[in-house]
Amino acid sequence: MVVEILAVGTELLLGNIANTNAQYLSRRCAALGFSVYHHTVVGDNEKRMTEAIRQAFGRSDIVILTGGLGPTEDDMTKEVCAKVMGFPMEEDVHTRKRISGYFRAARKKNVTDNNWKQALVPVGAKVLDNDNGTAPGLILEKNKKTVILLPGPPNELIPIFSEKAEPYLRALQPDTIYSKMVKVCGIGESQAETMILDLIDSQTNPTIATYAKTGEVHLRVTARAADEKEGKRLVKPVVRELKKRFGTQIYSTKEEEELEDAVVKLLKKYGLTVATAESMTGGLVAGRLVNVAGASECLKEGFVTYSNKAKRHALGVKKETLKTFGAVSEETARQMAEGGALAAGADSCVAVTGFAGPKDSKEEPKGLTYISCYLGGRVSVRKYHFTGNRRKIREQAVVQALNLLRLRMLEQYKHEQ
Ligand code: ATP
Repeated sequence: MVVEILAVGTELLLGNIANTNAQYLSRRCAALGFSVYHHTVVGDNEKRMTEAIRQAFGRSDIVILTGGLGPTEDDMTKEVCAKVMGFPMEEDVHTRKRISGYFRAARKKNVTDNNWKQALVPVGAKVLDNDNGTAPGLILEKNKKTVILLPGPPNELIPIFSEKAEPYLRALQPDTIYSKMVKVCGIGESQAETMILDLIDSQTNPTIATYAKTGEVHLRVTARAADEKEGKRLVKPVVRELKKRFGTQIYSTKEEEELEDAVVKLLKKYGLTVATAESMTGGLVAGRLVNVAGASECLKEGFVTYSNKAKRHALGVKKETLKTFGAVSEETARQMAEGGALAAGADSCVAVTGFAGPKDSKEEPKGLTYISCYLGGRVSVRKYHFTGNRRKIREQAVVQALNLLRLRMLEQYKHEQ
């Protein structure tokens, strides 16, 4: 079945807010096994809204409309939709009572007449109670077409959709979509795709889709199945094969797990502490680690050593090294990691030094970066040539720094896996 998402709001058209409702609804609908072929945005204008609803009916089975269910004059989604479908409006007694209760609980005294407009519903509509606001969600059905109306604020839309509209949609769509994410770091998208081209070419169910992220590639394995158990059964051998091919390049198979989560998990697992010694990334590596709740157990200290003087004083990089090889060099990166671990009294230290641009430096092109990691008395240094603008170069360096630390831990403790 085909679902279309029609978001209403001039704010969206002007670019004042991002259409996160469409993103959320699309994700959920895809997970429920529906096909979503169109997203439309239309302003608070009766004529254009009418056209958009008619057009959506022409190509989709279910139209989810969001926004414009408020009490004011320009909130007209419900009225326009009822008109297009030929439903008269009536007051829903239950909704009126719920709205009164909502105002009482909020101790709102100045309830204006237009608030009661929200208790009007198209005759025959299924009402989806809104526990976080006044406008109810609504389901309208006619001539094998369904419209689901949801209020615009995400804190109202998400609970109504997940708790009330989803069970309705599930009943319409017997198939389930089950998917698993495999997150790979350290190789590019085309290389990743080449490594699994045979799997991609022969795929029917499950399918594998690749998504390029900064310094990472995410592979989504998706199966269409009768239920979740069957979906898991279909997806499992494909994920196993991906693990075989990508090995330690996979840092997670959990949707919500970020690279820094995987790193902190390993640090905790092996009882290690870490320090960061950052020049070009200016604290971003430490910042990513601090994103993880409980990072204080392992992150000892973050050094931002942008100048040569700071590299010497905070990390003990030798003056001679800086003079002979320069700040962006393998030798400096090595001493930064060693010195950082020593200064912080940490078991490990990851260091970054490079040219972020925007212009090439006198000696080297922008993007040249050395990333090093000290662990178990040994320093590994890697050289990169990142491309893109200053911000992109720095972001890529952060990812590779976290990944180097992760790989070094896996290598160091490989016998303990
Ligand atoms: P209300 O009853 O609060 O007036 P409504 O259903 O009339 O809600 P709108 O007035 O269209 O919804 O939007 C209210 C707010 O909800 C917007 O200011 C915005 O913050 C948020 N919002 C609306 N549409 C979207 C969307 N598509 N994506 C994300 N946020 C949205």
